[in-house]
Amino acid sequence: MTDTLPPLREVIREYDLRAKKNFGQNFLLDLNLTSKIARIPGDISDSVMYEVGPGPGGLTRGLLMSGAKRVVAVEMDSRCLPALADISAAYDDRLTVHNADALEVDELALINPEPGEKLRIASNLPYNVGTMLLIKWLTLDEWRPWYASLTLMFQREVAERIVAGPGTKAYGRLSVLAQWRGKVRIALNVPAAAFTPPPKVASAVIHFEPMDPIDPTVKLSDLELVVERAFNQRRKMLRASLKGLPVDALALLEKAGIEPTLRAENISVADFVRLTRCFAEMKSQA
Ligand code: SAM
Repeated sequence: MTDTLPPLREVIREYDLRAKKNFGQNFLLDLNLTSKIARIPGDISDSVMYEVGPGPGGLTRGLLMSGAKRVVAVEMDSRCLPALADISAAYDDRLTVHNADALEVDELALINPEPGEKLRIASNLPYNVGTMLLIKWLTLDEWRPWYASLTLMFQREVAERIVAGPGTKAYGRLSVLAQWRGKVRIALNVPAAAFTPPPKVASAVIHFEPMDPIDPTVKLSDLELVVERAFNQRRKMLRASLKGLPVDALALLEKAGIEPTLRAENISVADFVRLTRCFAEMKSQA
């Protein structure tokens, strides 16, 4: 798949966009690959795609070629702005770029959605801020959130932690938070050689769709506390690791119907949700 713009290698040469480490820059230059990533959410012709870190615009062009209604991008490196302006011109201004730090912005204020527009996030994330951004998007106060899906590139090891199930080494706080909030899967494995320059490790794209809460009475802050305590000493049995909570750990586990000799890595997301509801009930009665 291609468009009328020059190949990305030429764009990088023309605008002297040598990758900078401090911006976490590893560029995707193959438009077939970026179009494949762009199509992971399915039909995006009714969607505004919010993209963090377009860089020279590989994924941005993939999203536009795949029919995205609009793309709103946030790029911290101002060197990329002229190349992105060329893309905007070639695609009838369907691309808007903001020169800002994605960790600081109010996405909805930038997107300024029109009624009926579906909003989605797609990004080849800068590795140094990827997990922070994911947590920002998974811990929004309003749930369901403003976005219909997340399609995000991570280091493969992080992607594996996000989708991991109980009984595996990778299962932890990030897995429980993500799987509590929605359905998540690894949609594509991407070798290091697909990037310029190639990073040291392989990558993977995860696709996440938010779902209604398993138990709407459970509060994020309570779940985060229980999960943090449980995994803080993951080799310990729950009866010991949950001792730091302000309720009796054994009574809590009994109320939730969970064996006190199990470890955090052995209980499911549904178990964590039940444990958190029981924790909140006991706390309020204390
Ligand atoms: N999307 C491009 C691609 O796939 O080739 C570039 C991906 S590169 C891994 C990450 C991009 O995020 C870089 O362009 C970098 O300048 C930008 N970036 C890094 N930190 C950022 C931040 N905090 N806010 C916005 N953009 C950031």
